[in-house]
Amino acid sequence: MKVLALLLVVLAGAALVYGMVQPWAGAGPRWDGPRADSGRLHETVRALVALGPRHDHAGMARAADWIRAQLSALGIASTTQDYRFANGDYRNVIARFGPPTPQRIVVGAHYDVHGPYEGADDNASGIAGLLELARLLRENPPPMRTELVFYPREEVDGMGSEVHARSLTRGEVRAVIVLEMIGTFSGEQKFPSPAPSSAGWLRRRSRSNRSTPRNRSPGSATPITATTGCRG
Ligand SMILES: [Zn+2]
Repeated sequence: MKVLALLLVVLAGAALVYGMVQPWAGAGPRWDGPRADSGRLHETVRALVALGPRHDHAGMARAADWIRAQLSALGIASTTQDYRFANGDYRNVIARFGPPTPQRIVVGAHYDVHGPYEGADDNASGIAGLLELARLLRENPPPMRTELVFYPREEVDGMGSEVHARSLTRGEVRAVIVLEMIGTFSGEQKFPSPAPSSAGWLRRRSRSNRSTPRNRSPGSATPITATTGCRG
């Protein structure tokens, strides 16, 4: 029975991945608005990686300072949502655009990294995308309140995204978009074969859940936010 349940989960995951990457739904309407600068995206990823490890308190603080400096250099004011977790102080960095409409769009990305790795794709690429979006929104203000939020601690407990989500109410959020692993330098990023990959992920999660009880269940976060499962 457990094997059947696992098989169903794997098949459901495979169907989800296929649905996300399928090419037959069309590319949507042509976009004639401002475009991202690939050179800037490239430089931002390299600069973030050059900051060094970003998985610990010092590394995340360094990254948050760097992100704020990048925003400031673009002429964009940022604020922080400070919180304390496990005797450490952490910051969501927030940049706001558009008029103060009752509802807002939230676009976020996490700036921490799993383990002492460079994290170019996960998630310097997401942060580069968010900073580039900040530049574009400064030049082309959106018609409704839009918040870009840079989160710490996505790879470990005490997620900044959860702190941010809990500070909002469902009715004031029109949509949430989380930028996660949006690019690589080494060719097109492909999903691995869904079945063995998903099974391995399930095994790792299973071991992890046994050895490291988490203070957060999958359903405990406010449902208006969503992050992808990139914890390695
Ligand atoms: Zn990630």
